[in-house]
Amino acid sequence: MEEKDMKFGTKAIHAGVHPDTATGAIMTPIYQTSTYVQEGIGNHKGFAYSRTSNPTRDALEKSIAALENGKYGACFGSGLAAIDCVLKMLNPGDEIISTNDLYGGSYRLFKTIFEKYGLKFHFVDMANAENIEHYINDNTKLIWIESPTNPMMNIIDVAVCADIAKKHNLLLAVDNTFATPYLQLPLDLGADIVMHSVTKYIGGHSDVVMGALVCNDKQLADEMYRIQNSSGAVTAPMDSFLVLRGIKTLHLRMQRHCENGKAIAHFLKTQDKIENVYWPGFEDHPNHEIAKKQMTDFGGMISFSLKGNKLEDALEIVKKVRLFSLAESLGGVESLIGHPATMTHAAIPKEEREKSGVVDSLIRLSVGVEDAEDLINDLKQALN
Ligand SMILES: *Cc1c(COP(=O)(O)O)cnc(C)c1O
Repeated sequence: MEEKDMKFGTKAIHAGVHPDTATGAIMTPIYQTSTYVQEGIGNHKGFAYSRTSNPTRDALEKSIAALENGKYGACFGSGLAAIDCVLKMLNPGDEIISTNDLYGGSYRLFKTIFEKYGLKFHFVDMANAENIEHYINDNTKLIWIESPTNPMMNIIDVAVCADIAKKHNLLLAVDNTFATPYLQLPLDLGADIVMHSVTKYIGGHSDVVMGALVCNDKQLADEMYRIQNSSGAVTAPMDSFLVLRGIKTLHLRMQRHCENGKAIAHFLKTQDKIENVYWPGFEDHPNHEIAKKQMTDFGGMISFSLKGNKLEDALEIVKKVRLFSLAESLGGVESLIGHPATMTHAAIPKEEREKSGVVDSLIRLSVGVEDAEDLINDLKQALN
């Protein structure tokens, strides 16, 4: 069966991986080697040096590409190293349009590293994606989006962004970390590049930091591999193995993340102390219809704010939970709780973060794959 004909769960288990040719090992071995013996100069088995390519990483890159319905995949030492690769495809003077509700680390990379090298960034409210058109000029080269966004769970219409990008001959890159290819396939929606913080759901076990890019265009792929090899922010064989293992249960984990997310979002909505619950599965979510159109389900990321909006109340809840662990990051099998205003978004001035909804009482949950009843009971005792 060809990979393109496989359904998602079959791909998660089989795409990109083959029994080891030397031993028949069903699991891709960890090729912990920097170099490869050549039979004569330039006469090798496809691998010359592990920065350029490594068999374990190679299997992983093919697996992630297949999951995203893409032809070419590349893995990096972190999600940010993957974004760094995309920006290095641009030239001084080029302009990028991005969302105003962007992952903080991406914002920092754009502003404190790449602005210095002459790239110009516009951060735009994309709740209505047509807003993008106002910022396009002759220098615009790239639209960079993520959906759902962190931590407000805003939804951006990927297909509308893709139409705008095509019309103006721009690249569209989508950070698909929150949705994963199980829920959303940006390349199928018209994007040119998909990016992942593999650290989160794809790895899924909170034991690896890694990034990935996937694309379909050969020229774009050549640039991606040239930069991956030239800048050298590659991922290690052991980490590649761990993620290959994680991917085999991505569909199962995502099913449970979505089920648990739904149960907890609805529970939170009934609670007297809670002001707002942000989760794209609610019919009254402002872009619920777009979420329904471009995603197969709504995921396990939820944020909520408290009545009275007191910082102390939020900190109290975060302290009282027992099953939810207080930590940065997301997408692992275990449930995490975070307080964006003092953790992930602390660097953003209060006035600015409150404008986008990151108020003092906002709490973010990464709902894991435990039993929903236990998670709900934990939140219940923390809220009361
Ligand atoms: C974590 C994250 C990143 C950065 O990835 P790292 O692996 O931490 O470098 C980028 N985008 C989103 C949406 C993330 O959640």
